[in-house]
Amino acid sequence: MYVGRKHTAVRSAEVERTFCCKGCGYSSPVRVTGIGEGTGNSPYFLDGDGARRRAVDEATARASEDADVVLAIVPCPSCGERDPAAARAFKTKGLLATLGLLALGCAIGVVLAALMSHRSGSMGLVFGVGTGVLSASAGIYVDRAKRSATWDGAILRVSFPSERDGA
Ligand SMILES: [Zn+2]
Repeated sequence: MYVGRKHTAVRSAEVERTFCCKGCGYSSPVRVTGIGEGTGNSPYFLDGDGARRRAVDEATARASEDADVVLAIVPCPSCGERDPAAARAFKTKGLLATLGLLALGCAIGVVLAALMSHRSGSMGLVFGVGTGVLSASAGIYVDRAKRSATWDGAILRVSFPSERDGA
């Protein structure tokens, strides 16, 4: 059993980048907002400040990575297209994450079912498989919700100069 505290942090980062549309050639300097989450552990409640700092450092690093993901998939303000390669990569990553979570759920189900059926027969089997299915679907749900927020919200997180001027 883990004794200690897990610190979490959420940070946003504003980065300056250049948007470049591969479809129509539109190009513009933009400001992108990225959001990242980080965690840091303080085992036995030691080094709480260090754990907090690690959580913040990780969140900050992930926020700037997130900004690059958002910039890659934002629809072009001129032609409305998303970069097809980046869009495909984004969707493939989502699919892989879903498959990974499914595999993890299966593994949890199999291990728990084996452990529990040993002790309490078929009820244990049902409980084990059920827990695996539940943990997989909960993980997949959260992961997909986050990805679709990034996909749909990308346009809100990239500010193009013409929008800033209100033109
Ligand atoms: Zn374009």
